[in-house]
Amino acid sequence: MLDTSTICAISTPSGKGAIAVVRLSGPDAIHICDQLFFFKDSRKKLASQKPNTLHFGVIKDQGEVVDEVVVGLFKSPHSYTGEDVVEISCHGATYIQQKILQLLIDHGARLAGPGEFTIRAFLNGKMDLSQAEAVADLIATSSEAAHRVAIQQMRGGFSDKLRKLRERLLHFISMIELELDFSEEEVEFADRKELSELIRSIHEIIQGLVESFSLGNVIKEGVPVTIAGQPNVGKSTLLNALLQEERAIVSEFEGTTRDAIEDTFVIKGINFRFIDTAGLRQTTDVVETMGVERTIRKIGQATVILLVVDAREHLERINIAIRELRDQVGESDKHIILVVNKADTLEPEERNSKFTSDNLPELPSDQNFVVLSALHKENLDRLHEKLLEVLELGVPGEHDVIITNARHYEALQNSLESISRVMEGLEQQISGDLLAQDIREALHYLGEITGEITTDEILGNIFSRFCIGK
Ligand code: GDP
Repeated sequence: MLDTSTICAISTPSGKGAIAVVRLSGPDAIHICDQLFFFKDSRKKLASQKPNTLHFGVIKDQGEVVDEVVVGLFKSPHSYTGEDVVEISCHGATYIQQKILQLLIDHGARLAGPGEFTIRAFLNGKMDLSQAEAVADLIATSSEAAHRVAIQQMRGGFSDKLRKLRERLLHFISMIELELDFSEEEVEFADRKELSELIRSIHEIIQGLVESFSLGNVIKEGVPVTIAGQPNVGKSTLLNALLQEERAIVSEFEGTTRDAIEDTFVIKGINFRFIDTAGLRQTTDVVETMGVERTIRKIGQATVILLVVDAREHLERINIAIRELRDQVGESDKHIILVVNKADTLEPEERNSKFTSDNLPELPSDQNFVVLSALHKENLDRLHEKLLEVLELGVPGEHDVIITNARHYEALQNSLESISRVMEGLEQQISGDLLAQDIREALHYLGEITGEITTDEILGNIFSRFCIGK
């Protein structure tokens, strides 16, 4: 997979900005740049400059100045890719960016593929595979929690944990192998009880990582939420109230990211994404029954369903609505939260007496209701809390290692299976060489995560998700 040609790409997003960065990496990077880049003092050359320095000058095409630029110079192995790297910061016009790129290609560089700078960083040992993947996650990050997890992983938090696990597994193998070497003498170096304890603690750590994926996945992908309920109960008012703070920030980016984050709001760093709410905004007066039909399609994609009812509605009708919704949802792991809206229209004592878990027997989990007023923005924080509560999400701490990547999840699950077999094997007192075989398998799967064990297919899959220039 490693080829040693010199690659180049525009590393900043397409379109025009104040400045743009064109990146060049490979054995000829400095030489190629020296043919286009000219210092004020025409005797100076990049090749003779110290590494990790910035230089001001001009890029010329056949004697004609294309732009004034600043060039960053990094020499192998102390660069992002581990190769010689030159980063040209030019003015942000698309024409200038393209022109410089074209000149670099004319002088012998080739256009980089997606993620190719990062592939080289991995292949040159600058980072392991899970760190490289975290780079992609970091670029795509859209919330505080996702950012924290990606940074932690990129800086090697997860790799560290895996390295320690591998060490413990290797210790286990060495204890067993010592025993195998002396098998004729019937010595038992590896105390079975000690082995059992060691393997149990390894099992626990991997199990914890596997379990962290449900939080990790939520952090990375966000939680899809939908709003169900009859017309006029206040669904769009609720949606707007929930999105409101967000909206104020979003409108500053009008025309850019607005579409993508329009229906998202963040609670404690977790993204909640409203799905298919376009219909809510253009409320039609189509008569519906209890208002659930229209949402069937949305429910399919949602993890959390907010069933909104009017606080003045009869309790029986509310319970029927809950049951109808539950019938549709079936035995899935979706969470239903009953939102009793328009609480302002009730007398205070009715508010407290009417809505109790005893009066809402159809609710799947008896505390899953919130009485609020969307119009007057009363008790919305209770709904925020409830949203986190039903998902049973801890909010990740700074040093927690959390799995966010499905590939890691799968590899960890596989290694957990091997470890479970070792645990069983120990109980059944199977022979040491069989135990060692399962341990090796567990090590193999852990190695897949960090990239000690890879195939071109795995690498291709991972790096094709990157953008060109990274
Ligand atoms: P939707 O059809 O379910 O989307 O309902 P809307 O959000 O369009 O609201 C229907 C009507 O109920 C509007 O006149 C809202 O102002 C009103 N409404 C919404 N929430 C509340 C509330 O908390 N209290 C009161 N009193 N009225 C509300």
